[in-house]
Amino acid sequence: MRRWNGWGDESIAYPLAPAARRFLEELLGPGMAPQDAPLAQVAARVPPSTLPAHPLVTTTPEQRIRHALGQSLPDWIAARFGTLTAFPDGVAFPTTNEEVRDLIAYAQQVGARLIPYGGGTSVVGHLTVLPEYQPILSVDMGRMNRLLRLEEMNQLATFQAGVRGPDLEAALRARGFTLGHFPQSFEYSTLGGWVATRSTGQASLKYGRIEDMVAGARVETPSATWVLPPFPASAAGPDLRQVVLGSEGRLGVFTEVTVRVHPAPERTAFYAVFFPDFALGMTAVREMAQEAVGVSLLRLSTSMETTVLLALAGRERTTRLVARYLRLRGLGPAPCLLVVGASGTRREVRQGLRRAFAIARAYRGVPAVHQIAHEWAKNRFRSPYLRNTLWEMGYAVDTVETAVTWDRVSTMLEAMERALREGLADREERVLAFTHLSHVYPQGSSIYTTFLFRLAPTAEETLARWQVLKDAVSQAIVAHGGTISHQHGVSLDHSRYLEAEKGELGMNALVALMRALDPDGMMNPGKLTPNV
Ligand SMILES: Cc1cc2nc3c(=O)[nH]c(=O)nc-3n(C[C@H](O)[C@H](O)[C@H](O)COP(=O)(O)OP(=O)(O)OC[C@H]3O[C@@H](n4cnc5c(N)ncnc54)[C@H](O)[C@@H]3O)c2cc1C
Repeated sequence: MRRWNGWGDESIAYPLAPAARRFLEELLGPGMAPQDAPLAQVAARVPPSTLPAHPLVTTTPEQRIRHALGQSLPDWIAARFGTLTAFPDGVAFPTTNEEVRDLIAYAQQVGARLIPYGGGTSVVGHLTVLPEYQPILSVDMGRMNRLLRLEEMNQLATFQAGVRGPDLEAALRARGFTLGHFPQSFEYSTLGGWVATRSTGQASLKYGRIEDMVAGARVETPSATWVLPPFPASAAGPDLRQVVLGSEGRLGVFTEVTVRVHPAPERTAFYAVFFPDFALGMTAVREMAQEAVGVSLLRLSTSMETTVLLALAGRERTTRLVARYLRLRGLGPAPCLLVVGASGTRREVRQGLRRAFAIARAYRGVPAVHQIAHEWAKNRFRSPYLRNTLWEMGYAVDTVETAVTWDRVSTMLEAMERALREGLADREERVLAFTHLSHVYPQGSSIYTTFLFRLAPTAEETLARWQVLKDAVSQAIVAHGGTISHQHGVSLDHSRYLEAEKGELGMNALVALMRALDPDGMMNPGKLTPNV
């Protein structure tokens, strides 16, 4: 059973070794977990639904609670402390395009707003119900999860948009193909959600971002059905696929998506390399990206992130041995871990790794025991469960991310970490912030920073701590010329920073587009563009 107030399946735990717990306590001070609010207590506060009955719509309090939330930290705070106040009035689980159309017509008729719900993994408030826009109908796409067509000759696959990562990949692997899209939220996130948020998966260096993968789509908009055909390429004016990508549920509901697929890889391998410092590691990954060496993943951690990863892995003996080995190899006290992944035919993997290692060696990179990369790969979809463990220890964890050109990476990274580390100084609270570069391009890189701080005894103070940190780091991103999101999207948490990169004219164009497809503003209101 999926947890309603945290990440993942209730039966899966991610225990931390005592040494890892001590490590965090030393950095942040001892944490104190608040008492979780039981589901029944929150359910008792769910007001009666104002929606008239519809055969596809359920109004049970539990479903309304489960669909009131995503995975943003404010969502977690509301769920764990039980302070949730706004809920969808009903939840529908359509199975066909016609049922989605029917639900849009019903919402129009009864004056409801509609929020498409994919896997519920948004981390920036996409699914949060805003009290000013009720009644809300949540349309859960989870039962629209079939592979409709695989055109082997054209390397195209059409899925219903509610398909989750593992089911999509299993359907393709059974026929010898892969999409190659592996966000860390893979277990629950859906194809429709990936498209609506412009998601990026861990193997983006080989397979691209979701916008490179989407060839066509069917969108049920409040105005009409919109079909975007899957041309291999087109010069027929502006590419309207790019307009619906990242639309965050504001333009309509994706019911079908056609994606470009690839032959399933013969081999996927992960290796670890340590660099004496971050600057050398960064130069190496830049060169690897610019030379297109043919690997699928490059993930370079700062020395602080390297320390945290090794400490939380809880393998004290391995960590000591690694530290000794790296000292013997002359790496110094602050080594930085690079995980290199390669995927493809055996030959492609061999060649890609050989070239990547040659560049790494030129910048004093030292290959490490295979086990480190292997552990990272094994845990890469399991590590979100760590969020539950940390909360239960009394620590909140969140992430922020941006992308900038190579000349700005170091300055941006320092500014983001500084904003976070110093953010709670007034409150005499410490913040642990650490960073990696995980999606590298010839022109620049994404920057992904994780931060931890202690939970306060109340929801209000915990939220206030988060808000101070979020504002400070978002302002640092804008001030240093970064995009407000490389992969998580805009939604509520980032909407006020969007104009800084789109400009006034761009924002007006975006609003005009929304009005064309959704004249009454019924789709996921209040997200992406503030106050519209
Ligand atoms: C632990 C964790 C790790 C993550 N790792 C990554 C990562 O590696 N890369 C990454 O890019 N993101 C990551 N995310 C963020 C999140 O998983 C992505 O934004 C994901 O694309 C959301 O997909 P979803 O199906 O869960 O959508 P939801 O969260 O359900 O919805 C997100 C938005 O998409 C809209 N939407 C969903 N389905 C449809 C549809 N069919 N039609 C129209 N609109 C729709 C919703 O209305 C909403 O606005 C992570 C999140 C968590 C919690």
